[in-house]
This record gives sequence, C-alpha cells and structure tokens, in this order.
Amino acid sequence: MKIYFRPDESTLPSIQLYAQHRRLWQEHGESILRAFEKVTGESWQNGVRILVVGNWDSEKNGFNSSAGFKSRRGISLRYASFNPPDWRVLSNLVHELGHRFIDQHQAGSPHADNEAETLENHRQLFVFLVDVINRSFKAKLAQKIITEMEANYNDARKSESNPYLKAWQWSRQLTFKRRQEICWLMFAQKIAILPKK
Ligand SMILES: [Zn+2]
Repeated sequence: MKIYFRPDESTLPSIQLYAQHRRLWQEHGESILRAFEKVTGESWQNGVRILVVGNWDSEKNGFNSSAGFKSRRGISLRYASFNPPDWRVLSNLVHELGHRFIDQHQAGSPHADNEAETLENHRQLFVFLVDVINRSFKAKLAQKIITEMEANYNDARKSESNPYLKAWQWSRQLTFKRRQEICWLMFAQKIAILPKK
C-alpha cells in the first residue's frame, strides 16, 4: 500500500507543506496503516493519492478536506494556512484515510451529498477512528489529536444540526466490544446496522 503526496502548487510554502506531510508520513505512516488493519481486521486494497492544499478559504470554498467520494480516487487535504501544526495534519490525514478505507471495502455509503449521508458516513468512520488513532500514535499525541478532533466537530460555525458532532457523540458512548461488533458487521459482513437517526 503506497501513499503518494502531491503539492497543490510549486510555490515555496506549498512545497514546505508537502514536505511536512512527507516527513510525518515517514514517521507515522507504517503505524497508521497497520492500525487500520488491526482495528478493522481488513487489509488496504489500493494506494491513495493525496493532494495537499494550503491557504484554503473554507468560507468561500466549502468544507476543508475531502476523501473524493465521487471520483473514488484521491484525497485532498486542505488547510487555512501553510503551516498547520503536526497534530492537525495527522488528524486530517487519518480522518480522510478512514473514508478511503471504508470505500475500498465498500463497507459504507459512498457519497456524502447531504446532511443525512454525512451523518451516516461519519458514524461509519468514527466507529473505528479513535481506536485507529490510539494504536497509531504514542499516548500523548493520540490524546491531543482526539481532543482537538472533538473540538473541531464541536465548532459552532458548523451547521446547527452538525452531523459530525452527532456522529462523534454517538460513537463515543459505544463500548469497545460494541465498536468491534459494528466494525465486523460493516467490513466482514457488509452490513450497515447503524441507527437511522
Ligand atoms: Zn469526513
């Protein structure tokens, strides 16, 4: 399984942001990939191409990062600046890789066009994402990523009904055993048994 990063432009800040991703992947990539496989019991099927974008204006251009649901190809990781902290890059990366992983196993709904689908997609993701993070990183870094992730989903600027936060809160009250059960149903049995609301 190979990850290919690509900078958005050939400007210096863009190349530096790209280099940061390469450095973090060098350090944590193996561990992240293994964690996905260990937690879900499935293997990566294909490589993933990742476009790295700095100075993204989410007010103007919509949500920050995307897993390319429609194209079924790459991921685009977008940041409001060219120098995001490492934990934000890792948080962004595992989130979007998680969508690709689900997609590679056709274990979830492939699109996220509206709020209901966004909620569904993120329940599928969050049911194993925290376990992946805890396996990928040392305890202190994992905790930082999880805390900041939660704060991000809790952001009041997101829509009132906030499907991210709903999905997050739903996943956080599940026991480890229940999370594993749902994972097995999703990945091994291709059954989405998530609640409708
Ligand atoms: Zn997402």
